[in-house]
Amino acid sequence: MLSIYSDTHRLHHGQAELMDGKLQPCFEMPSRADMVLERVKKVGLGDVRGPDEFGKSPLLRVHSAAYVQFLETAWAQWSALGRTHDALPLVWPVRGLRTDRIPTDIDGQLGYFAMDAGVPITAGTWEAIRQSANVALTAMQAMVNGEQSAFALCRPPGHHAAADYMGGYCYLNNVAIAAQGFLDRGAKKVAILDVDYHHGNGTQSIFYDRSDVMFVSIHGDPLVEYPHFLGFADEYGAGPGFGFNHNYPLPHGSDWKVYEAALADSVRKLKVYAPDVLLISLGVDTFKDDPISQFKLENDDYLKMGQYIKDIGCPTLFVMEGGYAVEDIGINAVNVLLGYEGR
Ligand SMILES: [Zn+2]
Repeated sequence: MLSIYSDTHRLHHGQAELMDGKLQPCFEMPSRADMVLERVKKVGLGDVRGPDEFGKSPLLRVHSAAYVQFLETAWAQWSALGRTHDALPLVWPVRGLRTDRIPTDIDGQLGYFAMDAGVPITAGTWEAIRQSANVALTAMQAMVNGEQSAFALCRPPGHHAAADYMGGYCYLNNVAIAAQGFLDRGAKKVAILDVDYHHGNGTQSIFYDRSDVMFVSIHGDPLVEYPHFLGFADEYGAGPGFGFNHNYPLPHGSDWKVYEAALADSVRKLKVYAPDVLLISLGVDTFKDDPISQFKLENDDYLKMGQYIKDIGCPTLFVMEGGYAVEDIGINAVNVLLGYEGR
């Protein structure tokens, strides 16, 4: 399987995120991608190539122009005030507040375009997130050109980012950008299966009212787990998209037995939909030792996950999302790919 990867992700290395009431070192760190790349090479998964440049237009197919402009200019606005530490939001437009005008100062903009404080913006963030989207787009283009599967080793991840907000370590929604890329190149219907421990709220919201992208997610129950405000089982889609969104919230402590039942049901739905292309939001924070998650999957369970995905029976693009047990993230992510390949 072809992998796409860029070293540019290193330019994004947040110093701190708000966790347990304290600013703590970010769990989303550059070594995550290093461990996955190392494993890809160690098992001989296939060629590893750098990304091509796709420019801003594919980003604007799923994100608002105002949001993309904010991401591009946030650090310059922030540092112009003499601030040298990471930019973080500190106020959010919750129920009853006005969202019909975008603040003109950077603190207001950070709150307007963020859902939480897990999205530090640094001097290199824009370049890193732009290139992460290029990694996904390059893998997409390789498949349009004939590859039957590919692995986009994206960092930062993307599935919490919606059309006009960032959150949960995510800025540009790489999997949504690639899915739209397939549609723009002739695919009629695509599906996204999100196996990250956290609900892919950004991806769901981008495609919620559309029938050309089915979204299926298996994740920690939002009643007790981030992102808390989306990802419940009664979210089926809206308007023409009704029936094309499926959530499987699972309780804390879910092991492979519980997970497999949800995965098997997801696979059944995806087979009925029969997409031209399948994209996988590949998070491996479902692992038993993940420091911020509560599922109990073991290393070998990821091989079985890959076999289930293969059984859906269509060209498949894997897009890296979360996973924070750094020593095991490479083994688990690549196990899904090896399981898919029947190795
Ligand atoms: Zn996650």
